[in-house]
Amino acid sequence: MDEATRQAYLAAMGMQTWEAREPRPPQAPGSGLAGAEGPADAGIRADGVAGLDWTALRERVSACAACELRATRTQTVFGVGDVNARLMLIGEAPGADEDRQGEPFVGRAGQLLNEMLLAIGLRRERVYIANILKCRPPNNRDPQPGEVASCEPFLRRQVELVAPRLIMALGRVAAHNLLKTQVSLARLRGQCHSYGDREVPVLVTYHPAYLLRSPRDKRKAWQDLLHARRMMSS
Ligand code: URA
Repeated sequence: MDEATRQAYLAAMGMQTWEAREPRPPQAPGSGLAGAEGPADAGIRADGVAGLDWTALRERVSACAACELRATRTQTVFGVGDVNARLMLIGEAPGADEDRQGEPFVGRAGQLLNEMLLAIGLRRERVYIANILKCRPPNNRDPQPGEVASCEPFLRRQVELVAPRLIMALGRVAAHNLLKTQVSLARLRGQCHSYGDREVPVLVTYHPAYLLRSPRDKRKAWQDLLHARRMMSS
């Protein structure tokens, strides 16, 4: 990417002042079931998804009634992007915009995420984006352990199907649930973790919604993105 384009993307992320304070960063080369309260008659759960193809998996997600979130969602939010992507981004759960539109990261946080991706030369369509939960928790509360357990097989299968070279966990909730840890986000950042039997490398970075509230940390997010780009091209 040429310098002018890179600067334009960074400016769109709201990071146009970084270059003045810092030397330019180096360029890198190219179940438990839900709350145990799942409805006895639901019959439609997230287990048994191993081996499903994309179409069957999407159908299973949209019919899922494994936890209480089935009652409050407008629709499930499956995931979006390139099913052969090298980079998979995993967020927490749909918010109000995503619940309405049926696609992850379409609100303001999603717009910032798009700019962050462009800053490392990636269009949104070239990555795969999913969430820990496929349904919106009411009032955007944190996902509950039972909900995460119910949804986990779906995400696991998505990761198997995409087989990304790298996963980026967006924010504390995604990182904690993916990595099964309670270690602080500050300590998880900057290190390479792994997910699943296939040990897909995982980097942890800030959630874009957090960056909207705390723009000072965009500089650290930029470092994480450079780390991701280096890992994908090595
Ligand atoms: N926040 C998330 O974690 N995921 C979304 O899809 C939207 C906002």
